[in-house]
Amino acid sequence: MVLYMKLDISIVIPLYNEKNIYNMCYKRVNFILNKLNRSYEILFVDDGSKNVYLNELVEISKLDKNVKIISLTRNFGKESALTAGIDYSQGEAVIILDADLQDPPELIPEMIKTWEEKDVDIVLMKRKTRNGETFTKKTTANKFYKLINSLSSFHIPEDVGDFRLMNRKSVEALKKLPERNRYMKGLFAWIGMNTYTMEYDREPRTGGGKAKMNYVKLINLAIEGITSFSTYPLRIALFLGVFSALFGFVFGMWIIFKTLIIGEIVKGYTSTIALITFLGGIQLLTIGIVGEYIGKIYLETKQRPIYLVKKFIAQGKNG
Ligand code: UDP
Ligand code: MG
Repeated sequence: MVLYMKLDISIVIPLYNEKNIYNMCYKRVNFILNKLNRSYEILFVDDGSKNVYLNELVEISKLDKNVKIISLTRNFGKESALTAGIDYSQGEAVIILDADLQDPPELIPEMIKTWEEKDVDIVLMKRKTRNGETFTKKTTANKFYKLINSLSSFHIPEDVGDFRLMNRKSVEALKKLPERNRYMKGLFAWIGMNTYTMEYDREPRTGGGKAKMNYVKLINLAIEGITSFSTYPLRIALFLGVFSALFGFVFGMWIIFKTLIIGEIVKGYTSTIALITFLGGIQLLTIGIVGEYIGKIYLETKQRPIYLVKKFIAQGKNG
């Protein structure tokens, strides 16, 4: 159990196979926070990493009481890892940071200052540039945000990641959202709140290694994002159905007309095949869309926890 203790700042950092990075990340974050003169905790959420650097992290937590580790039983995905970190956080302000230091920790003091001076609930970090990311990643990300925003009923900001500061009020609001399908950027936006947007330059990944969010994960996240926050695709399915039914009707009338006026023609093989494949395609597509939502309902009804904690470690001991 986590004993509730009031702290000023919580830094939540999800880790998945970040063997080369965790130490540098700790050092840089700690260096910044040490100078702030406030109480803080650095919460590392180990999302079921395969390589064993966890022991070394535990050693760090023995020396530095501000370091805490939530170790999940397996890889639940970044969204679940973030949820775990947010649930365990105790700070008045919670800052989410990527372990690969693409979100520079040097900005933390400015974020805190903005939060206090502007008296806002959330300080959102918007990427001015995305260094070290491929052109395709940038354009696909851009297109995705355009698509998702045209489909959902509230605005999900573009060019922002999970990097942000949230006050306790926003964190508690977020904890009230129980869904199992967690598209965090959508959930963050759904709670609303007073938000101040700060621009920053996104750094390339530190410590080498490939991004852990590969294209398959990103595409899945995109589908997750769209279907979790919008039922519009179901309407598209309906439109497609209406469109193809109308088309079928008009085409049918035309054939009847042709048969009556010009007489029966045996030809028409091509058009039959074309129609069958066209309608078959539309049917499969719409069943797929409906299936995506049924899948969501299925997962939600099971009411399984979003993550499972293997160990919570504070000061080198199981907390
Ligand atoms: N991450 C995680 N679980 C996963 C994948 C990633 O906790 O299944 C963490 C990872 O360790 C890193 C952050 O999420 O701290 C962002 O991952 P990455 O740099 O691969 O993603 P990108 O920068 O492409 O968004
Ligand atoms: Mg990264």
